Amino acid sequence: PLAPLAAPTRLLLGPGPSNAHPDVLAAMSQTPVGHLDPAFLQLMDEIQAQLRYVWQTENQLTIAVSGTGTAAMEATLANTVEPGDVVLVGVAGYFGNRLVDMAGRYGADVRSITKSWGQVFSLEELRTALETHRPAILALVHAETSTGARQPLEGVGDLCREFDCLLLLDTVTSLGGVPIFLDEWKVDLAYSCSQKGLGCSPGASPFTMGPRAITKMQQRKTKVANWYLDMNLLGKYWGSDRVYHHTAPINLYYGLREALRLIGEEGLANCWQRHQKNVEYLWQSLEEIGLTPHVEREFRLPTLTTVRIPEGVDGKAIARQLLNEHNIEVGGGLGELAGKVWRVGLMGYNSRPESVDRLVAALKQVLPQ
Ligand code: PLP
Repeated sequence: PLAPLAAPTRLLLGPGPSNAHPDVLAAMSQTPVGHLDPAFLQLMDEIQAQLRYVWQTENQLTIAVSGTGTAAMEATLANTVEPGDVVLVGVAGYFGNRLVDMAGRYGADVRSITKSWGQVFSLEELRTALETHRPAILALVHAETSTGARQPLEGVGDLCREFDCLLLLDTVTSLGGVPIFLDEWKVDLAYSCSQKGLGCSPGASPFTMGPRAITKMQQRKTKVANWYLDMNLLGKYWGSDRVYHHTAPINLYYGLREALRLIGEEGLANCWQRHQKNVEYLWQSLEEIGLTPHVEREFRLPTLTTVRIPEGVDGKAIARQLLNEHNIEVGGGLGELAGKVWRVGLMGYNSRPESVDRLVAALKQVLPQ
């Protein structure tokens, strides 16, 4: 027989998941109700309202998908891409590539523009690409978790309107930790996750769709090729019809509600400022022990920092020691940055000075002198 679960208590300072807030864990351990119970339907409404707040959007169709960020990513493409549509993806890291792969599976004529990992696209580069490809959808990653770079969005939405294409944005590593103004930026579709800036556990992933994207969905000639993620159906569960769709993971939604409540209590602007302040403390503390962030300061994310592994240091061995000897998780590099960087997340509940202090104290012990 198995022994009762005794999960190790780690400080999760990798690319995600991040540690859930203790109040979120407590909320998730409350007794579940049924997924059509009036108490749960009310909780769904509360989640929708709070998601609109953290995204700064008035989009009616703002929900949480039962699944991880990838499921919500899939939902944006499944509902809007029709076979043959040109989808232009900005690829400057791992998750841009995932969007390319996924859009292709829905029959899109996928085009991409690329940047080396750690860089971002300028408005001029995006304009040239839109002129060249004339896409139906431009997909960008706001916070590229594989590189730690923040894609600026100012002006991109206007550009997309000029070229009559939808703007789809991955906000998985930005929601809750990086300023986002979805409506002001004229973003038509976005998705995120629960386990990073929101400070919850993985599995209930924010999704939002604005009027232009809804129109595209409604004018489809083909059915949405994914039953579970079809917003025509899911919208009827989250909207006033309350039609049964699937058995929602009730306790995860309890956690998400609590996580969103905590952000509301703190105030969104304060929450963003906390992330910025703590990451600046991280950068300064790392520099004091001779470590350098990979991304140019102007484009660095407050939620995820790629840190260059010094010459001659075995990055994997250091990460292993941090985990085994100090119970601290950091991530390794992916793709172009494999073996070159560690990825250090300060997200949600973990964006605290104590996280930085613990990491730096441990690094001082494990790094070669
Ligand atoms: N997009 C980005 C930018 C991510 O960082 C991640 C995961 O870390 C995903 C998408 C996929 O999210 P998930 O792992 O929750 O499915």
